[in-house]
Amino acid sequence: MTDLQPARGTHDLIGEEQRRFAHVADTARRIAATYGFDEWQTPIFEDTRVFSRTLGETSDVVTKEMYSFTDRGGDSVTLRPEGTAGVCRALVTNGLTQSLPQKVFYAGPMFRYERPQKGRYRQFHQIGVELIGPGEPLADAEVIACGWDILQALDVADDVVLELNTLGDRDSRLAYRDALVAYLTDHRGSLSQDSLHRLDRNPMRILDSKDESDRIIVANAPTIDRYLTDAARAFFDGLQTHLAHFNVPFIRNPRIVRGLDYYGHTAFEFVTQALGAQGTVMAGGRYDGLVAEMGGPQTPAVGWASGIERLSMLLDQPPPAPTAIALVPIGEQAEAAAIPILQALRAAGLRAEMAYRGNLKRRMERANKAGARAAVILGADDLTAGVAQVKDLASGTQEAVPLDQIVALLS
Ligand code: ATP
Ligand code: MG
Repeated sequence: MTDLQPARGTHDLIGEEQRRFAHVADTARRIAATYGFDEWQTPIFEDTRVFSRTLGETSDVVTKEMYSFTDRGGDSVTLRPEGTAGVCRALVTNGLTQSLPQKVFYAGPMFRYERPQKGRYRQFHQIGVELIGPGEPLADAEVIACGWDILQALDVADDVVLELNTLGDRDSRLAYRDALVAYLTDHRGSLSQDSLHRLDRNPMRILDSKDESDRIIVANAPTIDRYLTDAARAFFDGLQTHLAHFNVPFIRNPRIVRGLDYYGHTAFEFVTQALGAQGTVMAGGRYDGLVAEMGGPQTPAVGWASGIERLSMLLDQPPPAPTAIALVPIGEQAEAAAIPILQALRAAGLRAEMAYRGNLKRRMERANKAGARAAVILGADDLTAGVAQVKDLASGTQEAVPLDQIVALLS
């Protein structure tokens, strides 16, 4: 079976990579909790309709990227490509639509059939927050501030810029859509095949096309600003005022739209130059229509999702490998005496290990190689005297310590 490889677009997380990954997820979980977000875990696969009905039939995710299959019972299920649809499905099926607000944090794997490249995988992982219930722009500001705080706590905020946009309300979008389609139709000869498809069905998606010749056309396209209703403009102004109060810097980017179709008003991305083409590290917006699409009542909501792999790559230094205390018994009797010490160290929350075989020299070599910070050496003479030799492996200093004082010394 030596020809077995991980499936294309998947990767193992081991050693330094896993430490980076865990640091991102742990930090996000901790910061989100300070904002009052509670963690939810929804299933990794769902009825395909949870995604196909709600993500928008023209979204890349639904048209090209879903891992869908028919299970043994004949039902079509899909490995979740994102977290928001499942959270909204869970809100409805758990009868929580009358218990608002719900402030949800999640972390876990997502699946998209993509062309793998740096920062783009078929199984990747997201952290995300959803604030379901409030329709005020203060909610949008708080969700964004939470994301910004996480980036700061990870010490990557200096490399990241918040790009903010409004998609307006329905009336704004209808008016804008006409103007945008008129402009794009004048330039249809230069549009990519994908964009031509979207021209009738979802023209705003053309604004964030990655195709070079699309980008040139889009650069001079009309923006939504002139078409915003008074209410939509007031919402966007309110959001910007609140962001200033939260001290979150941003720039306006009128080309930001969301890849999924259920968004309105706020759309934003945290982007970096440090990751090449895969520059979006966190993205979100307001999706007031989604809970209703899922069969619940009309419910405002706003949230974001962030790729853990991309954040991990931004971390300057990996978190250091943990260091252990090595128990080094010399002889069988000492080994028996070492076990209670080993367990006492562990009970005190310390990382403590003991090899399964080997003489003093081999065991010390192994402890050094594993990066142990201290060795507790137990010889026959020590045992008689009720002490152990505690050696600091960084400085090399060694002292005899009474057995009942070892835990306190090393804590
Ligand atoms: P992109 O434009 O890069 O394809 P997207 O708009 O499809 O991103 P979202 O659906 O907004 O991405 O997902 C939110 C975040 O999840 C992205 O900003 C990114 O950090 C991460 N992400 C999305 N797809 C992948 C992937 N295939 N591999 C790794 N991370 C991903
Ligand atoms: Mg994508």
